[in-house]
Amino acid sequence: MAQLTDDCFAFGGTLMRIEEAVALISERLPVLAGIEEVPLAEADGRIAAEPVTALHDVPPFANSAVDGYAVRHAVLAMDMETTLPVIGRLAAGASPDAVTTGDGAIRIFTGAPMPAGTDTVFMQEDVRRDGDAVILPAGLKRGANARAAGEDITRGACAIPAGRRLRPQDLALAAATGHDRITVRTRLRVALFSTGDELTEPGEPLGPGAIHDSNRVMLAGLLARFGVTVTDLGILRDEPKALAARLAEAARDYDLILTSGGVSTGEEDHVKAAVEATGSLMFWRIAIKPGRPVAMGLVAGTPFVGLPGNPGAVYVTLLFVVRPLLARLGGATDAALIGLPVRAAFPYRKKAGRREFVRVCVATAADAVLEAWKYPREGAGVLTSLTESDGLVELGDAVTAVAPGDILTFYPHTALW
Ligand code: AMP
Ligand code: MG
Repeated sequence: MAQLTDDCFAFGGTLMRIEEAVALISERLPVLAGIEEVPLAEADGRIAAEPVTALHDVPPFANSAVDGYAVRHAVLAMDMETTLPVIGRLAAGASPDAVTTGDGAIRIFTGAPMPAGTDTVFMQEDVRRDGDAVILPAGLKRGANARAAGEDITRGACAIPAGRRLRPQDLALAAATGHDRITVRTRLRVALFSTGDELTEPGEPLGPGAIHDSNRVMLAGLLARFGVTVTDLGILRDEPKALAARLAEAARDYDLILTSGGVSTGEEDHVKAAVEATGSLMFWRIAIKPGRPVAMGLVAGTPFVGLPGNPGAVYVTLLFVVRPLLARLGGATDAALIGLPVRAAFPYRKKAGRREFVRVCVATAADAVLEAWKYPREGAGVLTSLTESDGLVELGDAVTAVAPGDILTFYPHTALW
């Protein structure tokens, strides 16, 4: 396992592609999260620390997939109806030993075990009853409407790989395969700060030159969606000494320190100096827009990420740079994002050599293809471009122009969380 040292973040100052940054994160940084066992009911969104193995077959026994009549296929006539006496009845939850088996049909219900000797189930809609007998149509295949033991998953197979962020369907499979607890990673503890003399708490009156702090509440929400424990540590003023002291203090209690603002190279961007005073900082100039340089480093041995200040840049860098970092530190396999093809309904020009995420709205065109429009105001500081858009389209590093009709990759906002 990688050790957490200053070298983890050291990297020559060239512009780095997102893939390179993500690869470095997983090569150089260790998993910081510990391990604990939690009941299934508390495991949603947690990260599996070990593979979850099926303790038994699912389904545990062969059973009927429909309400109908279970028979032995071999007794059926080839090309004509077959009439069989109904010799028993089995509902879900009953033991198959409850019926005597023979060459008749057994009235059976969905989920009931297949009685010994039967292999095929006729749906009740497809048969006719005639007193104590049932008339079965010709042509049903052997094994129809019967579910084999273990056809979903067999005992000993891997139900959930280590590193998966558990979703409700994973918990369902864990329950079905015999588990009531799961070994998961402890939640990463993330300290969250905003920086800037202009920032005022939401709800407070604005003085001259002030704005409300909007990044912190957005970051807290996004981070919570990634399953970390977020501690909101408020606003840091643009005072280098106090900044450095507060960051060093937070380093003692958290696994990751995240700030926004103050990482550009202006005279009032003090985060850089503060981190350098207490640890080591490497500006990771990541080729991403929006998102000016993202600062990464260690503060007193604790990983630190300084995001840009503009909300649009905060959103994009959190999702495409911090998210893989959280996955690594938290012990998760960062699942590949699933982008959807959309047809561009806008022309656009961009610089080569950086990945660009354009905020778009989408709608289905007359020919049933999903089309994307660029949100008209594109500044990194425009918050309504995040609230009014449907998601982001990704323009590759090498792309220099988009023409209407081009097929682009679209990520709905919700697919990024
Ligand atoms: P900076 O990187 O500190 O120069 O900030 C860039 C821009 O983002 C400036 O317009 C800041 O006022 C704005 N900004 C920084 N932090 C926040 C925040 N927490 N909430 C809203 N806007 C912010
Ligand atoms: Mg600032």
